[in-house]
Amino acid sequence: MTRKVKFVEPAKLYLMIKEELDAAYFEVMSKGELIDRGQLRAFEENLAAFVGTKYAVGLNSGYDALHMSLRAAGIGNGDEVIVPAHTFVATASAVVNVGAKPVLVDVGKDFNIDCDKIEKVITSRTKAIIPVHLSGYMADMVRVMEIAEKHGLVVVEDACQSLGASMDDNDSVKCQVLGVKEEKTARRMAGSWGLTGCWSFYPFKILGGYGDGGAITTNDPDVALFATRMRYNGEDRHSGEYYGHGFTCLLDNMQAAFLDIKLRYLPQWIERRKAIAAKYRVALGYLPDLLLPHYDDSRRDHVYQNYTLRSKQGNDFSEFMKASGVEVLTQFRKPYYRHEALKLEDRGFPETEALSREVCSLPMNVEIADEEVDYVIDVVRSFYGER
Ligand SMILES: *Cc1c(COP(=O)(O)O)cnc(C)c1O
Repeated sequence: MTRKVKFVEPAKLYLMIKEELDAAYFEVMSKGELIDRGQLRAFEENLAAFVGTKYAVGLNSGYDALHMSLRAAGIGNGDEVIVPAHTFVATASAVVNVGAKPVLVDVGKDFNIDCDKIEKVITSRTKAIIPVHLSGYMADMVRVMEIAEKHGLVVVEDACQSLGASMDDNDSVKCQVLGVKEEKTARRMAGSWGLTGCWSFYPFKILGGYGDGGAITTNDPDVALFATRMRYNGEDRHSGEYYGHGFTCLLDNMQAAFLDIKLRYLPQWIERRKAIAAKYRVALGYLPDLLLPHYDDSRRDHVYQNYTLRSKQGNDFSEFMKASGVEVLTQFRKPYYRHEALKLEDRGFPETEALSREVCSLPMNVEIADEEVDYVIDVVRSFYGER
């Protein structure tokens, strides 16, 4: 029997928490509190507490978070910024749009930047590195921070896909703020290591709003203040003074109200995601053709924003899934640096090239039914002629 399994079902998730979302909507609408009000501040406080940073500043998108972070760090013309060859294009676009040059580095088997290849591309112009925590799994931040300290680089974490992921620190690494150094150790969340953590609340992210949204988290008061002004055209909202030519990229109060509600569910939703991932692993782990996203590194956990596997059969596999009614994502068959208009330097990234032919993300969300997960598993097995 053929059925349809959607990749995500936002309308179904809405019904799961409809009462609370509707109440927030009526509260905001009836009071007319649209811009920079209590809901935004409450969400910022709760997000900072969740991530374990002093500040969170709500912005309009993950792209804005990256862009604002680079501006706050003074990155611009003539500077080089290290980014992974396998990520969403916005990571590199933010670098280009501040006038700097993205220098791409290949990724490893976990889809994150290959730390063994970072130091080879560092030059006297290198000012920053943007590790991306892809799909819900952190880059090796202990190593990234060590390399950054050694070479005096600013670290901006692109954590857009990994809210809730964490990693053990070792005690020699200190958290980064401009000028000052502070000690922090033990288990630390994604987005609390670098100068900033960058977040996207695009509807299909692990914490998704009902439209665009984003934020930075930081321990640096100057960076938080910079973003707070620049998101509102450079204006200090209390004094009316302009502190520079800014942007319009404030997180809407309504979105903040919705996100604040969903943030409370995030820990239990992450458990649900982990349970689905475990089910996929048990059911599919024996198939030698598949590389599943389980890394068994006790220092890090995976929160499964995406369940991205690699099948040696590439498109044959993903097309079979689609033809069988299972919506899958194949991000990205064409790496971003191969898009000519972006004018990026392809230095040869063998792992990115290999994985881009093979990636396939199976449905992974909190609203999916157990029977749907079972069906996905059946379809994968039937592709390999097993049941
Ligand atoms: C989604 C995403 C972004 C951009 O976020 P937007 O809110 O869509 O601007 C940046 N980097 C990564 C890794 C992402 O997944």
